[in-house]
Amino acid sequence: MSDKKSDKSADNPVAKQTSMEDIVSLCKRRGFIYPGSDVYGGLSGTWDYGPLGVALKRNIMNLWWKTFVDDRDDMYGVDAAILMNQKVWQASGHVDTFTDPLVECSNCKSRFRADHLEGDKCPTCGKTGTFGAPKKFNMMFNTVVGPKFQSWTRKKPGGVEGELFFKNDQGQRETIWKIKDENNELGGAMVYDSTALSYLRPETAQGIFTNFKNVVDSFYPDLPFGIAQQGKAFRNEISPRDFVFRSREFEQMEVEYFIDPKDWEKEFDKWVSDIHVFLEQLGLSKEKLHENKVLEDDRAHYSKRTIDFEYDFPHKRDELLGLAYRTDFDLMNIQNNSGKSMEYRPKDGSKPFVPHVIEPSFGVERAIVAVLDAAYTEDEVNGEKRNYLKLPAHLAPVKVAVSPLLKNKKELSDKAHEVYKMLKKEFGAVMWDDNGNVGKRYRRQDEIGTPYCVTIDFDTLEDDTVTLRDRDTTKQTRVKISELIQELK
Ligand code: ATP
Repeated sequence: MSDKKSDKSADNPVAKQTSMEDIVSLCKRRGFIYPGSDVYGGLSGTWDYGPLGVALKRNIMNLWWKTFVDDRDDMYGVDAAILMNQKVWQASGHVDTFTDPLVECSNCKSRFRADHLEGDKCPTCGKTGTFGAPKKFNMMFNTVVGPKFQSWTRKKPGGVEGELFFKNDQGQRETIWKIKDENNELGGAMVYDSTALSYLRPETAQGIFTNFKNVVDSFYPDLPFGIAQQGKAFRNEISPRDFVFRSREFEQMEVEYFIDPKDWEKEFDKWVSDIHVFLEQLGLSKEKLHENKVLEDDRAHYSKRTIDFEYDFPHKRDELLGLAYRTDFDLMNIQNNSGKSMEYRPKDGSKPFVPHVIEPSFGVERAIVAVLDAAYTEDEVNGEKRNYLKLPAHLAPVKVAVSPLLKNKKELSDKAHEVYKMLKKEFGAVMWDDNGNVGKRYRRQDEIGTPYCVTIDFDTLEDDTVTLRDRDTTKQTRVKISELIQELK
């Protein structure tokens, strides 16, 4: 190997507090996560996943699905529509109560989430005592479904300002869009019927509850059983911040676990330990994880126990996921509002009842920040500082990188391509990398968390062995090509 400097194993791993800047800059530079709509100046609270980010995200989501659905025999997966009948959100209480307290600074007009402010000093203009009383700000994104509008002609030379709005239950107009209609194609204003109103779902849970009866009728599972869903959720956060931690569009992984109420404490405790097993598989250290038992006053009125699983994120200790015993609140709401029975008929012929629910609710973005924080490592190799991602191998976006020692030697390149194709067929997430010298390639792969690099050199042509280099130790060993797949498994 030409890169004798990096042959030496790593020394002095440094326990370092990772900063959010470290993570954000790595993510943007190396193609994990970019600001949303960046080319047009961005859209606050939205993020785009690049090639490595989408792989990391999928690996986390697939691990969750495997752990909580595929590896268990009491779980049923669903993938419900994001757009749902507005009655879902009226019945669940989101229309009336899914709000955050919003305050405005009377001096600079900046708006903030009141419970995220420290003191009464405006973070934008620095004035104190300028906040009015908090207003309830509903975090759901409105949208309209279908061409359910009445329109009439109000043509004018030069066009009209078209306004799209709906009438709310009180008969008041609520504007959705205003557009300039230069060619009078719109035919004046469009008044949307209030039945067209829908929302981008603020949580995946309601798509589970509304399918409870469908799953029971199709599969007739024994209690306890769970229904799991992964998917996008949207919240019009007043102040999105801390990278993807608080976004306006994010991904949730939720289970509604249906139980007999007499078993709730036992089932709740099982969930606490199952969650810890999963978090360990994400590579999160126990020292940075904390269980915050939410006190009665701060819990939703229907919840008998809630634990926020918190993590020491780079910005502060904050909620990673929630676990709540929600009693029969959600199914009873559906039963009362839809008029359809949500009762479960026990197989032993005993009295039917509406099951209670335990809800573990994970956010993918928060898991990603925690995983990157846990993996971000600094050490020294031969006196030189090195940053690398010590990701668990099952989460790494690239499992192994393959390169020829020298790019311009055809025989090395051909052999390396053979090895690359063999590994790619087996593992899928294999990267070809022949840019720069081999030392630089190792550093690049270290930075994105690739657990192994394989280098094809002149010895390979003689004895069919390759150099296998380990990310964490930087140790290099010779392995026969015929044994490489087994070695990497
Ligand atoms: P917070 O108090 O931080 O606003 P929450 O208690 O409202 O969060 P839940 O409604 O319990 O959050 O949502 C379940 C999970 O969804 C959270 O634990 C988190 O992982 C994730 N989540 C919620 N809001 C966001 C967001 N704006 N961005 C990213 N993830 C989120």
